[in-house]
Amino acid sequence: MDTENCTNLYLQVCQTFLTCKYDDPSTFEDLYKLLPWLRQSLTCCVCSKVVVDPMSSTQTHCQHFVCAKCRGGKMVLRPSCSWCKDANAFEINEHLVILVQCFSKICELILHSPINDHIIKYDQNRKKEQQKEATGKKEEHSKKRRSGTRRHQVSSRILNISVSEVLQDGISKCNQTTPVT
Ligand SMILES: [Zn+2]
Ligand SMILES: [Zn+2]
Repeated sequence: MDTENCTNLYLQVCQTFLTCKYDDPSTFEDLYKLLPWLRQSLTCCVCSKVVVDPMSSTQTHCQHFVCAKCRGGKMVLRPSCSWCKDANAFEINEHLVILVQCFSKICELILHSPINDHIIKYDQNRKKEQQKEATGKKEEHSKKRRSGTRRHQVSSRILNISVSEVLQDGISKCNQTTPVT
């Protein structure tokens, strides 16, 4: 949730996308991880959705940001941030506005590229794995805990969003920006 992090992730996504070879899936497998991270990094501190009309405090360096309509709302930060409490100090963050537009654009490009077929397959496999894991967990309840289970639980909780959902989220941002009057 800071602008530098978002920019770096975005650049990594672009680099992976621009240098990938469609007939060699190993060249774009990084996208499956990078895209959810990028989407996560563009999350509003109040509503937890991809930020719309991003605003951040001009008086601090904490780099927290919220949607224009979420300004002054309760932030879901843990621990809470003592720096950006003054909602009046929030102004439109032009850098982030552009970054969200870029995110939206790259989602659209990926969605219309041959990579999308691989993404759909990847999501399906991941879903199957998660279901297997879920039934495994139920069975395990009565059995002894196997090693490595804890790690799986954590990783699936962090990025519980599929890559396809990230792309849909991204392209829906095209139409959401409030027109400048
Ligand atoms: Zn918001
Ligand atoms: Zn802050």
